[in-house]
Amino acid sequence: MNRGRREFSVPGERPADGPVLSIRMKQRISIHRYKKFANGRCDCLEKEKGLLIVLSGPSGVGKGTVRKEIFSNPERNLVYSISATSRPKRPGEVDGVDYFFKTREQFEEMIERGELLEYTEYVGNYYGTPLEYVKKTLEEGKDVFLEIEVEGAKQVREKFPDGIFIFLIPPSLKELEKRIKNRGTESDETIKNRMKVAKEELKMMGLYDYVVENDEVKEACRKIKAIIEAEHCRRFRIQNKLEKLLGGC
Ligand code: 5GP
Repeated sequence: MNRGRREFSVPGERPADGPVLSIRMKQRISIHRYKKFANGRCDCLEKEKGLLIVLSGPSGVGKGTVRKEIFSNPERNLVYSISATSRPKRPGEVDGVDYFFKTREQFEEMIERGELLEYTEYVGNYYGTPLEYVKKTLEEGKDVFLEIEVEGAKQVREKFPDGIFIFLIPPSLKELEKRIKNRGTESDETIKNRMKVAKEELKMMGLYDYVVENDEVKEACRKIKAIIEAEHCRRFRIQNKLEKLLGGC
């Protein structure tokens, strides 16, 4: 029995359809040949890239509050990707801090120029994630945090299957409605629309890797940070370090 293979082969090493090799086998062939064997699909020998973290959840669940709390004391390597939107600024919001506020025409030009990683129309307004910033920041090895709704998250999943998808849920629907009303920035009609959309969004939680209840903001943040930390320890993400470590054995 080859215990080494059993212990060190990498089942499900992403991308999933790449060959599964034991560390020992990899040691026997050169890095160059391994990459060729992997048909260029495995980047685990490249420099470590940052993680893409996607936080979604129904309207009013408190994604914004949770995100602000996380970034009030951010982890060293975690940055927030500011979205673009065509929705009007709310009181207190700042362009370039809360959103990049655009007209519908400007937003549509961004779509046409392929400048968005994902975008959607949500309750009558466009929202989208600028692509270049995300790409550049991940390449630099930093983690990028997106706070987006479910349609956008689905698009991101297709482009970044290695992303970490977290869904925030409310303690109850009643509590959710209360939170939307308490915000006091929306008309009755918009609140009704947001509740309708929120119920549909809740049904999409199956697309996510993790579900976190937002009963208490600090506790939800603690869990999200713990998820990110645990994801950094996933073996396939630190394969290059393991290669070096085992190369010296
Ligand atoms: P709000 O108008 O309350 O700021 O945001 C409305 C919804 O749009 C929220 O669910 C928020 O997470 C989502 N959202 C914010 N930015 C983006 C984005 O860049 N892309 C997508 N798809 N949704 C976003």
